[in-house]
Amino acid sequence: MHTIDYLRVDALETAIATLRDDPSSAPLGGGTTLVDLMKCGVAQPSRLVDLTYLPGLDGIEACESALRVGALARMSDVAVHPEVQQRWPAVSEALLRGASQQLRNMATIGGNLMQRTRCGYFRDPTFSECNKRSPGSGCAALEGENRGHAVLGTSDHCIATYPGDFAVALMAFDAIVHILGPDGARSIPIDDFFLLPGDTPEQEHPLSQGELITGVEVPASPAARQSRYLKVRDRVSYEFAAASAAVGLEIADDGTVADARVALGGVATKPWREPAVEAALIGRSAGPELFREAAALAAAGAHPRQHNAYKVELARRTVARALINVPR
Ligand code: SF4
Repeated sequence: MHTIDYLRVDALETAIATLRDDPSSAPLGGGTTLVDLMKCGVAQPSRLVDLTYLPGLDGIEACESALRVGALARMSDVAVHPEVQQRWPAVSEALLRGASQQLRNMATIGGNLMQRTRCGYFRDPTFSECNKRSPGSGCAALEGENRGHAVLGTSDHCIATYPGDFAVALMAFDAIVHILGPDGARSIPIDDFFLLPGDTPEQEHPLSQGELITGVEVPASPAARQSRYLKVRDRVSYEFAAASAAVGLEIADDGTVADARVALGGVATKPWREPAVEAALIGRSAGPELFREAAALAAAGAHPRQHNAYKVELARRTVARALINVPR
C-alpha cells in the first residue's frame, strides 16, 4: 500500500519550504485534478501539502485597471462574481463551461491552471509509452487513438491537448500569473506560463521546486468587456472541448474593429492565441462576413493526425461563431 503524509499548513512560507525540501510532496488545492491522478496511479506523492487553509489567497478584486483573483478562490465564486460577469464575460463563461457545478465548487483557480491533460494513454499506467508520464518511453497517441488530441503546438514526442477553458480566456486578455517561491515573487505572462511539449513534454510550466501560484491578474479593456467564450464538445452536460474560442472585440464609433482578441482551446497543446486572426479583423468593418473571413486564418500550421483532422475546420467555425455572438 502506498502511504501518504498529510500536512495542513497555515503559512505560505511553510508550504514553500516543505515543497522545496521534499520533491516527492505535492501541493493540494481543491483536489479535483490531483486526487483523480492519484486514484489512477499517475501521481504518487509521498506527502500532500494542503494549501486550502492559507489565509488571504481567495480574494476576488475588480478595480479600474484589472481583475485580481487569488489562487485559492473557487471557480464557482469567480464565475458568478458580478464584476467578472459584467467586465470579463468570457472569463465567467469559460469557468462556467468547465467541469460540473460540484467540481467548480471545489476546484481552485490555481489548481485549474495546473490541471493535466486528459490523454487516455497518460492517465492509464498500463500503457507503457507516454513521454509525459515516463520521459523517453515514446508516445502511444501518435499512431493510436488520437481523435481528441492536439493539431497545434505538437511535437514528435507529445500531442496531448491542453484541457482547460479558463486559461483560454486568460490567454485572449493577456493575463499575468503571480508566483511565490523560495527565491521570492515573480510574475509570468500567461503565454509563457504554458510550455510547448518539444522534446520535454513532462515540463508543462516554468515553475521551480517549491514555487506556487498566488494569484492571477487580468487587465481590463473594452475588448474584455465585449467578449464571449464558446465551447464545442461531444455533450453539453459535461465534457472537455473538441474546440473552443475566447474572443473579444472593441468596435469604434464608425463600426470598424479597433481591437480584437482571439484564443483557441481544445485543439492545441497549450491555450493558443491567434494573432493572424486578430490582425485580419482590426481596422475593418465589423460583421459576419469579416468574421468568417478572418476566422478562416485560425489554426494555420496545424498538424493533424489520423483521427483529429476535423479539429482544423471546427476551430475556424468556432472562432467565427464566437465573433458573431459578441454583443455589439
Ligand atoms: Fe503521453 Fe503526450 Fe503521447 Fe499522450 S500524447 S501518450 S500524454 S506523450
